[in-house]
Amino acid sequence: MRTDALVVGAGPASLIFSEKAASQGLNVKIYEEHTKIGIPNHCTGLISVEGFQRLNLTPTKEMIQHKISGCYIHSPNRNRIEVRDKRVRAYAINRILFDQMLANKAVNAGVQLILGEHVDSLLLSKNCVKGVSIKESNVFSPLTIDAEGPSRRLLQKTGLLSKWKKPLLGVNAEISAEVEPEMAEVWFNSDFAPGFFAWVVPLEGSSCRVGLASNSGAILEKLNYFLKKRFNTLPEYKPNIGQVLVDGPLQKTSFNGLLLVGDAAGHVKPTTGGGVVMGGLCASEAAKVAVKAIEESNTSSEYLKSYDYSWKSLYQNEFRSMKMLRSIADRVNDIQIDHTFTLFKEERMDEKLLDLVSAGDMDMQHNVIRKALTDSKVLILLTRILGRLMLDEMLQFVNV
Ligand SMILES: Cc1cc2nc3c(=O)[nH]c(=O)nc-3n(C[C@H](O)[C@H](O)[C@H](O)COP(=O)(O)OP(=O)(O)OC[C@H]3O[C@@H](n4cnc5c(N)ncnc54)[C@H](O)[C@@H]3O)c2cc1C
Repeated sequence: MRTDALVVGAGPASLIFSEKAASQGLNVKIYEEHTKIGIPNHCTGLISVEGFQRLNLTPTKEMIQHKISGCYIHSPNRNRIEVRDKRVRAYAINRILFDQMLANKAVNAGVQLILGEHVDSLLLSKNCVKGVSIKESNVFSPLTIDAEGPSRRLLQKTGLLSKWKKPLLGVNAEISAEVEPEMAEVWFNSDFAPGFFAWVVPLEGSSCRVGLASNSGAILEKLNYFLKKRFNTLPEYKPNIGQVLVDGPLQKTSFNGLLLVGDAAGHVKPTTGGGVVMGGLCASEAAKVAVKAIEESNTSSEYLKSYDYSWKSLYQNEFRSMKMLRSIADRVNDIQIDHTFTLFKEERMDEKLLDLVSAGDMDMQHNVIRKALTDSKVLILLTRILGRLMLDEMLQFVNV
């Protein structure tokens, strides 16, 4: 049987792409290096309610480990902001069961899923990807989909990858501990989460998933430090380490014979590192383009670039706004975060934040960011924060 689209990796972006493409008549073959779908799992599994709706998926009962309706955000000196919604905003899910559900849907749609097969390289000839190489044999296909995740190892080998920022390291562990039901926790502190934050997500019973991401090494020591500080405990099992992308999408995600989806394309929220929903939504766009390209026997970069147009017209504003917030967050230190929390309390912004969060969306953050930036109370607060940031930078300059 001919293969229309050959996909590397069987994470959510691959499986969503493949199911959609196969249901519209394409012969899709996936190569996944691991022998079981979803394993190893390093994800926190926090997926918004709207995210499920947008992806047209329904979480199963077994998959949902907890419902989340708010969170406590902690500054380095333990100042705390509470954001509590009346609605359930997200599910803490079992990512293994989630990925397996997607795999079943893909296989039912006719996708050929080959497990335990590592792809060594993308076959690049005369600036065109012609398929993949596995154990020194070549497998050809008019269209290849790189869904290899955040490492971008195959992509780097081709030389097609232009400027990109290395991902952060992220880690998760499950522990037994009592935390407030339905309330997640976010902790800023450069002692254990430099360049990002730590999190606690309640699960069923008295257990929770605790993790963090960091821009500098020794991630397990950092997790242990956080666990000791927050729960006076250590992980019961070996924590899983993964990579977290925070620099937004690549500008170019289509090439001759090749489309990039999911983390490989950078379709991840720069604010939180969550990529399941945005990756899945953009992968659905990739499937539409792939179907047309195969129908018209045209997988040139000129033809496939309609994929770039498509996800950019739908989501570029979202990624841009979140990237702007990320770049501000990257520039502030612990003292400045503490100061921001103090000003936040002084200006009595709790209700304002709640309004914004209630009206907002966990995945499509552009509108809420825009709304915040045009609110007079928020602007006054920002002026005070930015004034302080500028002052700090000027003082550093004077001290050099
Ligand atoms: C600590 C941590 C917590 C996170 N928490 C969340 C969260 O709560 N919510 C959220 O939305 N996102 C979260 N993410 C991000 C999320 O995991 C990713 O965005 C998502 O998994 C990306 O999906 P993907 O299909 O692009 O890639 P992946 O899920 O990474 O899948 C890629 C697949 O490709 C396979 N593969 C790679 N190379 C090859 C090869 N050469 N040959 C064959 N197979 C290959 C891999 O084995 C893997 O199965 C988290 C990430 C980390 C690290």
